[in-house]
Amino acid sequence: MSGFNPLNFNVGFIAAETVGYVREIPVEIASLTLQDLPLHALHGSVVFDRVSKGVTAHVHLEALTPAECIRCLQPFEQALEIDFTELYAFSGKMPDAEFIFPESGQLNLAPLVREYMLLAIPMHAVCSPDCKGLCPVCGANMNEHVCNHEEESGDPRLAVLKALLE
Ligand SMILES: [Zn+2]
Ligand SMILES: [Zn+2]
Repeated sequence: MSGFNPLNFNVGFIAAETVGYVREIPVEIASLTLQDLPLHALHGSVVFDRVSKGVTAHVHLEALTPAECIRCLQPFEQALEIDFTELYAFSGKMPDAEFIFPESGQLNLAPLVREYMLLAIPMHAVCSPDCKGLCPVCGANMNEHVCNHEEESGDPRLAVLKALLE
């Protein structure tokens, strides 16, 4: 990623605050690409909390990402929602901490947000829970029009065989 990173937060001043200090930062980003992951309408908040061992970041974000419906094969915007909390420990306070509070005071949440967003993408994305999919006989998008093939039950290969026999 190059240039301005809106998920990079300047949190140095929070470390200087007393334990119990909370700062909520709203997030509102129209469009952002995290490496290979395009996100639209990214919104939510990051709450930074000064705790005795460091600073915790509580991230709650929602976004849309382009996807293709497995039923009708049409492109659509998949809604994603993530929610996680991480502790950024002051060095020396917790030797086994997973994340250390950056000396620069610059906390880049982009890699973690990307990771959580990728995990939030469903394995089988559908444009709508009641997507009717494609007609197995003629391939028409059954959300858009009725081709009447759905009345015929059974294997489409049998339908072909039946047509040959007639
Ligand atoms: Zn669909
Ligand atoms: Zn059909």
